[in-house]
Amino acid sequence: MKILFLLLASFSVAAATTVNWVDHACPICGTVSVTMQLGSYHQFGEPAHDLSDSPGFSFHGVDICPNDLFASWQSNWDKVDPADKAKLSEFLKQPCVDLTAQEKAIVGDHLEELKLSRWWEELWARSCDEIRKPDPRHRWRRAIAMNHTGLVATSDWEKKLAAHYREQAIIELKAATTSSWTTDVEKRISSYLEAELTQQAGKVDEAKALFRKVISHEKTLPPNEDFAWIASWSGDQLALIDKPQPTLQPDSQVALPPLPTPGNDAPPTVAETGSPAPKPMGKEEALNEIKTARFLNRDDILDSQDPEIIKALDERIQRLRQTKATGGWDWARQHEIRSFEAVTRGKKLLQVPVR
Ligand SMILES: [Zn+2]
Repeated sequence: MKILFLLLASFSVAAATTVNWVDHACPICGTVSVTMQLGSYHQFGEPAHDLSDSPGFSFHGVDICPNDLFASWQSNWDKVDPADKAKLSEFLKQPCVDLTAQEKAIVGDHLEELKLSRWWEELWARSCDEIRKPDPRHRWRRAIAMNHTGLVATSDWEKKLAAHYREQAIIELKAATTSSWTTDVEKRISSYLEAELTQQAGKVDEAKALFRKVISHEKTLPPNEDFAWIASWSGDQLALIDKPQPTLQPDSQVALPPLPTPGNDAPPTVAETGSPAPKPMGKEEALNEIKTARFLNRDDILDSQDPEIIKALDERIQRLRQTKATGGWDWARQHEIRSFEAVTRGKKLLQVPVR
């Protein structure tokens, strides 16, 4: 938690961030899979005032075991209480995503779209969390993360769901400012974020009062340049609230980041990938590619529904897992295993029913 929290507090942007692939074992079934680990990062330009560009959120998202689908945010992945393991194993035999009545009402008949959004992984991870012993700090982090996922919502139902998660985050942040489990620094950041999200929710008078409260509390503390941003941003935001904000142009909006779409054999279009779609391959050619390619990066092959191709891919990945390599090649090897695992668990996750 300490590292994650420092990441949150240092609010770096993702642009100059390096990541590594590392193996980690599922705490429930022991399956080893590849996950992303944050390397070095540097701050360029203004950070987002709601900390949404912190690598703590961009690179410490939900991890899902490709075998039994055990899911958790990275900060809680390998900290499963022994007493919770048996309960989780049982739950994973008959998995289901628990949606609240409010979520069901907002999502309505957009369930299939929800399943293709990042929220689906988060909702599944939350369902796994709920089998475990309650952890207020984790709940707090999760609420902030789910709010951030909604920042790029475009369609009406997505925007309503985003507003709902913002309200949930405000509730958790408010609770964190007075709870016994939070450190003083966590309380200060929670107070600031509560004000910021309240402002984003359009509750202007309430947000102003909260920012003023943050500023007056910060004045009572000894100066510390690591956290000087809390008072200074509160002052900035307070000044900005009364200024008219430029409206977003439609072309500056982006869709929710999509998950891999297993079962969709259509090659990505130019608009989706930014580069021309690769020429579709015949089955023999694809099998040959699986056998000989040094680095397989063809989504159309990874997504294939053909049993022979799936079997060949599986064998290739088993072989790759046993390969010990170094340097740049190992990065490519891990990346390929990670892509394969993402497709595998994506297919399984789509099958998980809602309760
Ligand atoms: Zn597992």
